[in-house]
Amino acid sequence: MKKVYLDHAATTPAHPEVVLAMQPYFSEKFGNPSSIHAFGQEARAAVEKAREQVARLIGLPAEASAKAGGSVEEIVFTSGGTESDNFALEGVAFANENKGKHIIISKIEHHAVLECCEFLKKRGFEITYLPVDQYGLVDPQEVKKAITDKTILVSIMHANNEIGTIEPIAEISKITREKSVYFHTDAVQIAGHLPINVKDLGVDLLSLSAHKFYGPKGVGALYVKKGTRLVSFLHGGGQEKGKRASTENVPGIVGLGVACELAQKMMATEGSRLRVLRDNLIKGILDKIPETTLNGHPTLRLPNNVNVSIKYVEGESILLNLDQQGIAGSTGSACTSGSLEPSHVLLAIGLPHEIAHGSLRLTLGSATTEDDINYVLEVLPPIVEKLRSMSPLYKGRK
Ligand code: PLP
Repeated sequence: MKKVYLDHAATTPAHPEVVLAMQPYFSEKFGNPSSIHAFGQEARAAVEKAREQVARLIGLPAEASAKAGGSVEEIVFTSGGTESDNFALEGVAFANENKGKHIIISKIEHHAVLECCEFLKKRGFEITYLPVDQYGLVDPQEVKKAITDKTILVSIMHANNEIGTIEPIAEISKITREKSVYFHTDAVQIAGHLPINVKDLGVDLLSLSAHKFYGPKGVGALYVKKGTRLVSFLHGGGQEKGKRASTENVPGIVGLGVACELAQKMMATEGSRLRVLRDNLIKGILDKIPETTLNGHPTLRLPNNVNVSIKYVEGESILLNLDQQGIAGSTGSACTSGSLEPSHVLLAIGLPHEIAHGSLRLTLGSATTEDDINYVLEVLPPIVEKLRSMSPLYKGRK
């Protein structure tokens, strides 16, 4: 059976060059980067090279500033996007609580940010959840209105993982800078896919994760602008300049570095290729399946993201049927912990519960071909027709 993987927002396969580069660091180059002997220094050199590769991906002038004792030090390796988000929020919250205990986020943040805010609420922090418009966009003026003299941090994601909408980060940072409030962005879905320049974005902290752009799982980074007051996340040995203790995940870090370099090389051509496939898939679905709508912004969206609501059907049923045809996708209304709660993102853009339940996310990647898109467009309409024919809602809709 044909296999079509369209769940790249969940994770991507590691690129063969990434795997190849990582391999020696499991065995023959196994040293601890903190050791002063040659084994250790070999591993240290690999970690520092990766730090420069990450720095370059997010627009920092790696080599020049390294000599000047500069910006590569602003990269802290972590265990992935979740840790980077937790580190940014808790790190800033606990280091600055004497100034105030107010944090602003959007309603459509990833659970890594939302749940962290739940934790902070229990420790006396006040959280403001900003609304988004029908496309999932945060209005920078809403950020401005929400800032008080107690606000210490704003955290707005760069691109949403479900609907792909890209937020106006540079506009928001103009406001946070004016008000002297720290600004964090979760760039997990955009890093490695679209150009990022932290200086142009004007952010103080930025999260990224290797497995979202053909790197290994369990490794990521947090950019921390020099001068940002931040409490260390893990306490122990003094690794990562005391910001994050624990022996470095050297193979993972090497893999992250190579993934950054490959992403930079391929970004422009791959982005244009995927946009064409994405738009063909969106158009095909909307044309072939009646009563279907696109979720997220039509143009300010990730090059690989398709998210549609298909009326009168359950997202899970579509997924299971697609899976039987070899197609892997995802739905915003994932059945988590036994409850069928629709996605908080789809509710935040104003979809009613029943429509939020019928949504399908297909995220394209490096192996996706025109043939794959045609296959989905051949297989999906009859699946929807079959499911609708069994739906009492569909039959009684007029
Ligand atoms: N933030 C966003 C926007 C994500 O999409 C994800 C992963 O789905 C994460 C954070 C968490 O990243 P990780 O799986 O590396 O912990």
